[in-house]
Amino acid sequence: MTVEERIKDRQIGIMGMARSGVAAALLADSFMGKPFVSDVKEAQLLTSEIARLKAVNIPFETGGHTEKLLSCDYLVVSPGVPLTNEMLVKAQKKGIPIFSEIEFASWACRGKIVAVTGSNGKTTTTALLGEIFSEAGFDAFVGGNIGLPFSEIALKVPSNGIAVVEVSNFQLETIVDFQPDIAMILNITPDHLDRHGSFENYKKAKYRIAENQTAKQTLILNLDDKVLTSDTIATDARISYFTTNDSTTAVAFVRDNFLWGRKDAHEFSIIDTAEILIPGPHNLQNAAAAVTASLSCDVKADTLAKVLKHFSGVEHRMENAGTVAGINFINDSKATNVDAVCFALRSVKTPLYLITGGRDKGADFSPIIKYGKGKIKGVVAIGEAKDKIFDSFGQSFPVEFADSLEDAVRITFEQAIPGETILLSPGCASFDMFENFEHRGRVFKAAVAKLKNKTNENETLSKK
Ligand code: ADP
Repeated sequence: MTVEERIKDRQIGIMGMARSGVAAALLADSFMGKPFVSDVKEAQLLTSEIARLKAVNIPFETGGHTEKLLSCDYLVVSPGVPLTNEMLVKAQKKGIPIFSEIEFASWACRGKIVAVTGSNGKTTTTALLGEIFSEAGFDAFVGGNIGLPFSEIALKVPSNGIAVVEVSNFQLETIVDFQPDIAMILNITPDHLDRHGSFENYKKAKYRIAENQTAKQTLILNLDDKVLTSDTIATDARISYFTTNDSTTAVAFVRDNFLWGRKDAHEFSIIDTAEILIPGPHNLQNAAAAVTASLSCDVKADTLAKVLKHFSGVEHRMENAGTVAGINFINDSKATNVDAVCFALRSVKTPLYLITGGRDKGADFSPIIKYGKGKIKGVVAIGEAKDKIFDSFGQSFPVEFADSLEDAVRITFEQAIPGETILLSPGCASFDMFENFEHRGRVFKAAVAKLKNKTNENETLSKK
């Protein structure tokens, strides 16, 4: 079925208004569909979205999902709406098809789709791939969970262009025909167990990224990930691997401290790993993953080397937040699960103070003990997970509590000495204290900036 046939004159219920919901409604409108947008939030929290809908006369409701949705031909759901939502359950019972927003957007995308999923590293790898493809001369668009929703970029991608989309589990739960040309699963570690219930369900949702792929398409997997290599993923796609070890089969691998590529049985070195700007072993994995996808689109080794030397990463991911009185601050607010915290700990080479906590997602914090041993000098716990953090590693490291992130910055700064690092890597969601992880990261950086000003003032005063 063509995209026009799927959308024109169809009553399309769009659940969730913010970001992807409005974008999906506008996409439906541009194909002469009949979108109706519904959100549980009150109108005053959605003023900019409502303005965009009103401008093109798209009907909507706020403050709850009503039965109006049940008279639609199908529903498009934003990632924030759980499948257990009462209206979705009713729709399922009535046999109304349900599509995720990435599925819906993919109908309209004429170019190649590279879809990136995994427990960690999605945004970094997606952004890196966007840079590589642009540098290689492709008309490349980046979106999905990062930046613009896929529905907003889908129509812009020309038939010889590439859409690199970050896809979350929530979006994969409700795909039907979604069929990326290149699908990537970077790694699988427990996350979002609060919403998925079990690790099995979580994995199942991720593996759906490859379920509609054909033998002409590619699935890229991490050879170093024990879960990915031991599970059988149902797909017809060709599988390509990346690894940060030496390998005789992987498309991207590391040998003698160089990142290598392999194409048609020919091996070639791409870059000295020390020259890759994004730091840490996890980013080497992301670089290897991006190289694997790029080589399957015939990107040249020198283009890859050029971008890897200059790509500095994405805000809130092991971001250098400045140095005050010789103490380094790192903003890793996006570390919303324990695995990301462990990678952060492995990346920092100096003794450190860890600021961690927030809204617990049902995770086990104990792996932090292993990676923090000999490195963590103290922990300041914030948010709802405070007590659980104390119970998990209060025996291994000194743990203090702070009521706010600013306080946590102050407490750690008082204890740290020059050459040490203060790392915000929460391992938890942010919603107990902040609007989102970006807000948390900004508050952290503002607290560091304040310290810096104060320290400069004091220095000036003492010199006078
Ligand atoms: P995602 O979009 O999957 O959440 P990000 O690129 O935003 O991934 O990174 C999220 C967090 O995970 C950051 O704290 C980052 O330092 C860490 N991280 C990035 N890449 C990886 C990886 N390959 N493995 C583990 N942790 C990673």
